Amino acid sequence: LPTLVILGRPNVGKSSLFNRLVGRKIAIVDDTPGVTRDRKEAEGRVGGRDVRILDTAGLEEAAPETVQGRMRASSEAALREADVALFVVDVRTGLTPADRAFAQWLRRQHTPVILVANKTEGRFGGQAAMEAYELGLGDPVPVSAEHGDGMGDLHDAIREALPAEGEAVAGDAERPLRLAIIGRPNAGKSTLLNALTGEERMITGPEPGLTRDSVAVQWTDETGAAVRLVDTAGLRKKARIEQHLEKMSAAASIAALKECEIAILVVDALLGMEEQELRLARLAEREGRAVVIAFNKWDAVEDREATKRRLEDALMASLAQMRGIKVVPISAKTGRGVEKLMPAVREVYALWNRRIPTGELNRWFETMMTRHPPPLSEGRRIKLRYATMPKARPPTVTVFGTRAEQLPEDYRRYLVNGFREAFTMPGVPIRLQMRGTT
Ligand code: GDP
Repeated sequence: LPTLVILGRPNVGKSSLFNRLVGRKIAIVDDTPGVTRDRKEAEGRVGGRDVRILDTAGLEEAAPETVQGRMRASSEAALREADVALFVVDVRTGLTPADRAFAQWLRRQHTPVILVANKTEGRFGGQAAMEAYELGLGDPVPVSAEHGDGMGDLHDAIREALPAEGEAVAGDAERPLRLAIIGRPNAGKSTLLNALTGEERMITGPEPGLTRDSVAVQWTDETGAAVRLVDTAGLRKKARIEQHLEKMSAAASIAALKECEIAILVVDALLGMEEQELRLARLAEREGRAVVIAFNKWDAVEDREATKRRLEDALMASLAQMRGIKVVPISAKTGRGVEKLMPAVREVYALWNRRIPTGELNRWFETMMTRHPPPLSEGRRIKLRYATMPKARPPTVTVFGTRAEQLPEDYRRYLVNGFREAFTMPGVPIRLQMRGTT
């Protein structure tokens, strides 16, 4: 199950929030600081998903030999198990130095954080929550755990931050990497699948439509990692009958892409990078999937140097958003070069999963701001303040600032390309979100 962890200094209302989210009275709620000293755990339904919820004892900046130091250690351990952290602050007492130290530590961690501004009932409304912006952890979600106010918004925020259904969650290392093989009919997808898995699991042949359905096979690659491979050969025959080949193969590719995390785009090197290949690459980008390109039938290519140059030029000209994408020349038929494919896939997969710590992200962000300050919008400065990375898979960057949502397209591209270069993410789609702050 995906795991939520509730963090915050003592007495901010973690246990009340835990009870609220779990829906049963489990934690002991008491106003004496430090009453809930041990970690509690329960399952609940949050944001329409079954989740595991961890409540931690308060985390304070304190020496490890003190009780609070031990509590911090247990929070760190809990955070490592979590997919999403709820960082709770108390708007009635306001931010304390402990909150700030805590937030600073959290910003350096890799787990997405939702900032929860608790105790906002009554006259302590949304306004009081504004102070929490200073923590640099994004928009605070104002709630009253005790009265149940704001829980709908909190559920929504959690739903957005959780890994998508079927995606890896913290702790399940056994889950296979999900890989799609896409490409036009006859590019050699089925042959490649056989070459990769080393078994004749599918019938291949010169005739398009021999494989009737999209096929998924699971195998263990040479590093011992489980891989689930989906071939999109399916629907081809039906498509031919209906004379909607283009449309149908696109539909099959989209289905496979949704099911997968990363795609190998098989290109028939004898035919080149044509509109169909570019469209598939763009589909993958739109679905947020990482891509590796295999130039297949390399055995039959005569002038390899010239062909490679021509293929790469086509990529450069038409797929700027996938700049630097990995290409591997292969012969699925003879097996040559196929051994280089999975290492390339795993490399891009790791980048796609990568979280940039907030500190590092903001050092990059400041360089970008210095090099090229954001332009004026209707005569007024757009002031961008900081960036966070709320999720990976694909890497997603949120930029906060005044009138951030008015940022023109070319400046957004400047940020995305700068990010891709700074953190070397070729072939990885990157999402950029703008959040206006006041
Ligand atoms: P799919 O429709 O993409 O699954 O393509 P297939 O795997 O069925 O292959 C289509 C045709 O291309 C078959 O005749 C294969 O033998 C041939 N083919 C596949 N890979 C290669 C390759 O690396 N070199 C050569 N010369 N032919 C290949």
